[in-house]
Amino acid sequence: MTQVQDYIRTIVDFPKPGIMFRDVTTLFSNPRGFRMAIDQLLHPYAGERIDVVVGLEARGFILGGAVAHQLGTGFVPVRKKGKLPGTVISEAYTLEYGEAVVEVHDDAIAPGQNVLIVDDLLATGGTAEAGIKLVERLGGQIAGCAFVVDLPDLGGRKRLKALDIDVHALCS
Ligand code: 5GP
Repeated sequence: MTQVQDYIRTIVDFPKPGIMFRDVTTLFSNPRGFRMAIDQLLHPYAGERIDVVVGLEARGFILGGAVAHQLGTGFVPVRKKGKLPGTVISEAYTLEYGEAVVEVHDDAIAPGQNVLIVDDLLATGGTAEAGIKLVERLGGQIAGCAFVVDLPDLGGRKRLKALDIDVHALCS
């Protein structure tokens, strides 16, 4: 039977030499693959109280929007610096070379809300950790972080586990 990983292709040397990029656009464009991914992402949380789904820019928006629709929740985007129009809070995190900043509207999550964070891929966990910090600074509680792909050698799962975060990934 076809599995989620069968719809993901690998692009060698993207965005730079030596990187094997896991391309999920081929998963998104396939009707069976996309439905399977959304169903499997939300499966562990279907019986739980989830108030808000947070998607991490940019592929987390595509997945998170569909997951929120299925769970019947709202959707909140965590965006790269300078993209959101309202008042924001920011978190900086370290990349391989340099630093990145992500932001969320300061009124997007109410204290005590249960939040599911969604993104396409977990590598070092830096992006997800920044998203977690933003949600927690607004008083939200993390119900879990759901990814299509986990790259365990890059340590993201361990990093999030050390923060006591539930990590759900469809393939590694
Ligand atoms: P991390 O912060 O965990 O090191 O990197 C994860 C972030 O980088 C995610 O937002 C993800 O979209 C992006 N990313 C890094 N490598 C890949 C890759 O090979 N494929 C895809 N689709 N996204 C990647």
